Amino acid sequence: MSHIPLGPGGEFDAVRAIIAQLGASAHGVGDDAGAFTVPPGEVGFVSTDVAVEDVHFRRAWFTAEEIGYRSAAAALSDLAAMAATPRAVVIALTLPERWRADAPAIAAGIAGAAQSVGAPVVGGDLSDGPTLAIAITVIGSTRAPLTRGGAKVGQGIWVTGRLGGPAVALAAHQGGSAVPPRAQKRFARPTPRIREAFWLAAHGATACIDISDGLSGDLGHIAAASSVRLVVQRDGLPRVEGASAEQAASGGEEYELAVTAPQSLDAAAFTREFNVPLTCIGEVRAGEAGVEWHSAGASVAVPQAFDHFDHAPQ
Ligand SMILES: [Mg+2]
Repeated sequence: MSHIPLGPGGEFDAVRAIIAQLGASAHGVGDDAGAFTVPPGEVGFVSTDVAVEDVHFRRAWFTAEEIGYRSAAAALSDLAAMAATPRAVVIALTLPERWRADAPAIAAGIAGAAQSVGAPVVGGDLSDGPTLAIAITVIGSTRAPLTRGGAKVGQGIWVTGRLGGPAVALAAHQGGSAVPPRAQKRFARPTPRIREAFWLAAHGATACIDISDGLSGDLGHIAAASSVRLVVQRDGLPRVEGASAEQAASGGEEYELAVTAPQSLDAAAFTREFNVPLTCIGEVRAGEAGVEWHSAGASVAVPQAFDHFDHAPQ
């Protein structure tokens, strides 16, 4: 689908520059509303995510391209958590004067994330404002959604990837120490696990959440929605090099998936397919809804979520 030409004006010049950066990922941008289609028999899902400078990230931590990329990846990760195919992305950008020159790089980052999962950017809005804010709305569809409420007693609790990278990178940024490159990569370039979610659904997963606020807190949502007790082995969490068990358990912005699925799941087959680890970290049990963490056979307390940063504007 080609774009509808925009009329003259400074704002539209900026929009034209952004559309140029979106390249092949933009579809039919420029009319009053964007179009998308949902295949017959599928249900549509919509989710939105906003990233605000000095609330969700600091400029010094990322390139402009990374800021765009991870904003879109975070939103798309919510579609992965539903096992939904991305169908459309809509961008709302509040752009202060001091960020104006970075707009094309931010757009290129958003386009990169959208293209990585085959999602077209179908529209957006651009506004002046005091703070950079990137709001990404994603639309997806699926025949059989994975929800938080589907966990069944006797299943295993499984997690994709290795955890703790974003927490390690964040601690280094805040402490002024050298940031380990692998941790920074996990922080700056999370992968929305769309294809992985479909594999997990096809192999018996019945509940899913993406880890945005930290595994500990996010598992609490599955436990509450499914009315089950999740017993998790803290020391068995897959971790990036240098991450503590606590960082893996509580660090946010992972965008890995936590699912409940049969304990007999073939993790080696998953890893062969995606080159990503899949680890059983615990078991779904009957009992009072909640998450119980174990370490060396004893019950341990794990914080709900890492205190990311103080959110005070600089
Ligand atoms: Mg989510």
